Amino acid sequence: MVEIAQARLQLLVGAHRQTFGQLPAIIAQAPGRINLIGEHTDYNDGFVLPAAIDRDVVLVATPRPDRRLRIQSLNAEGLADLDLDELAASGEWHDYAAGVADALGRAGYRLFGLDATVAGTVPLGGGLSSSAALEVATAFAFSLASDLSVTERELALLCQRAENDFVGAKVGVMDQFVSVFGRPDHAIHLDCRSLETRPIPLPLGEHGLALVVCDSGVKHAIAGGEYNRRRQECAGAVAILKGKYPEILNLRDVTPAMLRAASGLFGPDDQIPLRRARHVVSENARVEQTIDALKRADWAAVGSALWASHASLRDDYAVSVPEIDALVEIARGVRGVLGARLMGGGFGGSTLTLLHRDVLDPFTAAVAAEYPTRAGREATVYPVTIVGGARVGWVELGENEQPGGETAGN
Ligand code: ADP
Ligand code: MG
Repeated sequence: MVEIAQARLQLLVGAHRQTFGQLPAIIAQAPGRINLIGEHTDYNDGFVLPAAIDRDVVLVATPRPDRRLRIQSLNAEGLADLDLDELAASGEWHDYAAGVADALGRAGYRLFGLDATVAGTVPLGGGLSSSAALEVATAFAFSLASDLSVTERELALLCQRAENDFVGAKVGVMDQFVSVFGRPDHAIHLDCRSLETRPIPLPLGEHGLALVVCDSGVKHAIAGGEYNRRRQECAGAVAILKGKYPEILNLRDVTPAMLRAASGLFGPDDQIPLRRARHVVSENARVEQTIDALKRADWAAVGSALWASHASLRDDYAVSVPEIDALVEIARGVRGVLGARLMGGGFGGSTLTLLHRDVLDPFTAAVAAEYPTRAGREATVYPVTIVGGARVGWVELGENEQPGGETAGN
């Protein structure tokens, strides 16, 4: 079942009908995500531990017999009217949907057109991956409408390709995979080399715990350039480490002990690559430590891994900013907070905080009281719930019924 609130469905169906003059037949829903731990490890072929959250993109659609894609969003301006045979990037929000159609077509799937209406609750550009949610919802809708025999794994990969090649954003595969494969009350351990996924129980509610995202309101334009530079610095570290370990392909293949044993290879001019490597190698180890701690229900150890991840991102990887550090320090000052760290690429963005549910109010109050004086702006605090992955189904709009969604996929 695609389960969404009636009021939200009514709003979507109403807008769809108004624009396209028809009721939608298909409904697809895809979640955004948090990443518990494993930051800047994905492009080093390492490990990440994301989870799908209760903020999503819902797309309703009416299949068309021709090859047109018309799409509107309740969260963005502009009705796109596109020919599936002549797709080209426009720089607009609908590139994420058009890119998915393009990637499916290039992979050999024959699509019917769609009229589609989108509404999301993932904040746009807030680091909770609204882009992947939009892509995955679009992919699932096309898959059902055109009766494609395509696996969910391939859909996730094609969504990543859409964002890399059509939109032009060099993202890893984490966001799309967790939007597809998320599970309620589980994090998803993703090996970014083999693309194997393993659900890891994350029973927060059972233990009276919660995860909270704080958006710092800061976004630095240097983030993209610095991201590329970090990738180069990691490649530089690998080149040096190959002097002792010729078999390694990238930092994923290096353990903390191997790095310590090879630290003499890094000369005075190589201290930056060494620090970048130390972050990536220790962060991969922290993903494993976090999984072990979760198995033992040792939440204090999970929290310690989050603090350590933050320190490593700040000191060795140099991707934090004072506002993000302030949010982490404010969290540290609240009793009942177990851990907090920078989440996402850095240079602004959000933090993730693990805390006892009953200190959510004091924590929110501390952020509201202290952050503006420290950062000169306000932060937005979002508690999140861990939910399942994307779904798609037929909309059933009976004469005497309220509209509701029925499952066909997933
Ligand atoms: P994030 O994925 O962290 O939210 P991105 O910059 O990767 O940030 O993607 C955000 C972009 O995705 C938005 O600027 C917009 O173009 C597109 N997008 C996501 N959700 C929607 C939506 N509901 N309606 C329209 N566009 C959306
Ligand atoms: Mg994104």
